[in-house]
Amino acid sequence: MARRGWGNDMTRSIPGARITRAEYDEVSLYAPNRAVARIDLSDNTNLWGMPPGAAREVHRAASASITRYPPLYADELKQAIAAYLGGGVTPDMIVTGCGSDDVLDSAIRALGPPGTIVAHLQPSFAMIPRFARVNGLEPRPIMMTSEFDADADAFIAARPRIAYLCSPNNPTGAPLSRTSIERVIRGVPGVTIVDEAYAEFAAENMLDLLATSPRLLISRTMSKAFGLAGLRIGYAVGDPAVVAAVEKSRGPYKVSAIAARAAVAALTEDLDWVRERVALAVENRERLVRALRLGGYAPVASAANFVLVPVSDATGADRALRDRGIAVRPFAGLAGIGDALRVSVGPWDMLEECVSALTALAAPGEAGSA
Ligand SMILES: *Cc1c(COP(=O)(O)O)cnc(C)c1O
Repeated sequence: MARRGWGNDMTRSIPGARITRAEYDEVSLYAPNRAVARIDLSDNTNLWGMPPGAAREVHRAASASITRYPPLYADELKQAIAAYLGGGVTPDMIVTGCGSDDVLDSAIRALGPPGTIVAHLQPSFAMIPRFARVNGLEPRPIMMTSEFDADADAFIAARPRIAYLCSPNNPTGAPLSRTSIERVIRGVPGVTIVDEAYAEFAAENMLDLLATSPRLLISRTMSKAFGLAGLRIGYAVGDPAVVAAVEKSRGPYKVSAIAARAAVAALTEDLDWVRERVALAVENRERLVRALRLGGYAPVASAANFVLVPVSDATGADRALRDRGIAVRPFAGLAGIGDALRVSVGPWDMLEECVSALTALAAPGEAGSA
């Protein structure tokens, strides 16, 4: 991706004046390689496309009145989300946003006083330490256990105002155990955020814990299973008081009129479409894991729509795949794992090409072999 002149450049400043905080300057611009590839398995979006009801609403809404502001806090969308989640979730327990990125950023700002600790699973979603820093909080990585689970004791010992867990976790794909999630919620003094961006692909989610845990906030997104990443729709569910605090920090008008209409259609008309693609993703995920094992790799067992594949040289393997028109997400020196590639699950013909390219790489003497 082309970098604009002053994104990460700490050497440039206005003469005689510091324009940003020192801790802010330490944050780098989030800019992974997003170059177009023939087969893009890099971002865990829905590779089967966009749900039909949502697609229809995007076309309709585009010709409707967009000279006016959308609803302040997306009330109709909250109702559709509450109905989708069921289990006693009501609209006042939901805050929406411009992607769950926006909701997570707003939650950290609302719930964590500047200078306090955001304890986050490591490795996990790369945006969290960035959101902590830009909001004046201190990110504290908590190394996952050797079973890819959250180390509840270490989270509790950090005494964070915000504990961030992600289940299934990105980039490992592993689900966290219910026991350790519950222990973190009970044991930390502040709010625990459980990021369930990939819950639709997993056997289990933590929504039922909301009934007994007022200090739990669960974030979700419509970017992954629902195929609407380009529209930027995310949300979080929690106690009405916690949600109200996050909504205030989020501010008005964060879900565009077109996005809200498409999301409501997806949640009311397209659930069968989504569930069918989720079932295919789960089936293809297991097939991908088996094929990679046969090819000489040891992928991490996944409950999401992607698979993490440890390799000896992620940069080299990524380059070799790119040369064949295939994009994955490379990680160099991932904590507790080492170099690895994160491969999104999609239709089998896409995965097949990726598997054969990786299998060729693993052959003795090839660059980036496993
Ligand atoms: C993709 C992803 C998100 C962000 O989703 P948006 O709603 O598109 O902002 C949040 N958390 C995790 C773990 C993700 O992988």
